[in-house]
Amino acid sequence: DRIARKRDRKFDQFRKRIKDNESLKVEASVFDDATYAALYKLVQDGWVDALGGPISTGKEANVYTALGGDGAADVLGADAPEVAIKVYRINASDFRDMRDYLVGDPRFEGIGSKKSQVVIAWVRKEYANLQRARRAGVRVPYPLAVERNVLVMEYIGAEEGRAKRLAEVNVENPQTAYEVVREYMRRLHTAGLVHGDLSEYNMVIHDGELVVIDLGQAVTVHHPNARDFLERDCRNVAAFFSRQGIDVTGDELYEFVVED
Ligand code: ADP
Ligand code: MN
Repeated sequence: DRIARKRDRKFDQFRKRIKDNESLKVEASVFDDATYAALYKLVQDGWVDALGGPISTGKEANVYTALGGDGAADVLGADAPEVAIKVYRINASDFRDMRDYLVGDPRFEGIGSKKSQVVIAWVRKEYANLQRARRAGVRVPYPLAVERNVLVMEYIGAEEGRAKRLAEVNVENPQTAYEVVREYMRRLHTAGLVHGDLSEYNMVIHDGELVVIDLGQAVTVHHPNARDFLERDCRNVAAFFSRQGIDVTGDELYEFVVED
């Protein structure tokens, strides 16, 4: 009918706009129709107004900047805020590996083995993990919306560019930074979460504030490997801060994180 035709036309225009966007040239060719549809839904729901350029091309997902819509402005309390959009590639994703991280998570029982379903559950998990971390008092990007393989969150950075990873900066006060990280790890653990990929690559510094990112693989303490993952996180974090001159071992950090 007419309304459906009009809707299709608007969707085609939207897709064309992305395809014509110079900074998205490469990306536009990898978005499949379902991803366009998810982006379009996020626009219609008021989370996103316009897509910006890429800020990261990863193994499983790409991250873009975008202009947030009214919904994003309301939640973030800013006029026309910039947001970050993480788009998972259904086909590039190693979904077998992803499945292993969903095991034993009571929030995602009964997930099928279809690739797209696993990836979609993964993205919902990342959103839920961000929410849980936030409520536990851990500074993470504010999770705004999730649609299929696309996650919209607060953008951490300035107009000049995304916030630098801990690995990319000269840490000015490593002792303070270490104490913040260890406290965040403890709060996460108390909230029943283990990050699972915590290192100087998944923490950024913005306005002197340390922000933990990339919580897709974070598992609940019910996961059969939760303890191993936490021990590994502790080793990675301790190794980084040791190189910054802090006297700490992975075991000491682990004790701090799990002690009540
Ligand atoms: P990956 O699985 O590819 O490591 P990440 O979530 O770590 O995915 O994102 C990749 C990179 O994109 C990060 O290292 C960071 O530089 C940037 N990034 C991710 N999320 C945000 C955000 N909310 N704001 C600003 N930059 C971000
Ligand atoms: Mn990462």
